[in-house]
Amino acid sequence: MPAADSPASARPGPAHRHALVTGGAGFLGSHLCEQLLVAGTRVTCMDDLCTSDGGNVDHLRDDPRFSFVHHDVSEPFTTADDVDLVLHFASPASPADYLRLPVETLRVGSVGTWHALEAARRTGARMVLASTSETYGDPQVHPQPESYWGHVNPVGPRGVYDEAKRFGEAITTAYRTAHGVDTAIVRIFNTYGPRMRREDGRAIPTFVAQALSGQPMTVAGDGSQTRSVCYVDDTVRGVLAVAASGLPGPFNVGYPEERSVLAIAQAVGEAVGTDPGVEFVGRPVDDPTVRCPDISAIRSAVGWEPQVPFADGLARTVDWFRATAPRLPERGAA
Ligand code: NAD
Repeated sequence: MPAADSPASARPGPAHRHALVTGGAGFLGSHLCEQLLVAGTRVTCMDDLCTSDGGNVDHLRDDPRFSFVHHDVSEPFTTADDVDLVLHFASPASPADYLRLPVETLRVGSVGTWHALEAARRTGARMVLASTSETYGDPQVHPQPESYWGHVNPVGPRGVYDEAKRFGEAITTAYRTAHGVDTAIVRIFNTYGPRMRREDGRAIPTFVAQALSGQPMTVAGDGSQTRSVCYVDDTVRGVLAVAASGLPGPFNVGYPEERSVLAIAQAVGEAVGTDPGVEFVGRPVDDPTVRCPDISAIRSAVGWEPQVPFADGLARTVDWFRATAPRLPERGAA
């Protein structure tokens, strides 16, 4: 085994033999499955398709090292004995999804995480929990370091997601201390890129889909609230670096610069080339006012930092949305 703190980039060959990726058919999960296969790791993708349709992994299904298991991880499951990495990414992630699936979100963050930890305990695998910047809630410390405990409203509408992830962090930590499971926690900040759903409800896919169809971009409030947005390739590289590191975290994974939501909409308008303007709409309850990661911990532990500038990531995202745009039926077609 390499030293626990050696950077992922220093490792020859795949860091792991066989990975179980829960939520592997989703936006982040599908990119993780793909990159693990590229690195030479076998992949079992387990997903109940509650917020995806399986299309994100269609291109992987012919690879004999890839298998798909249709299963809700909040129900018990078994895994192959040779699984040595569990990436627990199953969870509704967009506010539109977790507000539609509040109990399922709490179940997958609690019981689902417990099942993922039990799988890792049984096979001796390393388990990485996809946590979130939402554990910081509407933060009163800015930017947010991992040492900040957060400011979450447990009975507000977003509480189902934030508290599910906070419980997930607590049980992951308990399995490490009580059962010696090799665990890690990544607190992922807003990530964007190809394979997000147009109807996902998160800001960037919404703005891109609206701008491409010539509709005004719906900006919540006055758009002065800030977000940090990280391109998916960078986020995936950060998660895999933590997975390979042997370190427990928690580690923030995000872009260390914030932008106002209005500035993000304006940048989308420029990237699309035909700016349709914005329409201001009501701000969701408990919507965070600021959001920006302090990434010093992950930078010094595994040498990770984002490499894709916002303008480049946005251009790649717009290209993908354009290439996969639903075709309108031809005039006169049945
Ligand atoms: P996504 O909705 O695209 O993917 C989630 C996947 O999990 C979907 O394929 C869904 O069908 C699956 N899933 C949900 N509940 C399940 C269950 N009970 N059993 C099996 N599969 C289930 O979301 P995403 O953006 O790819 O997010 C993936 C993970 O990363 C989530 O845990 C999310 O909380 C976390 N995260 C994402 C972001 C981001 O910006 N994308 C930020 C912070 C944290």
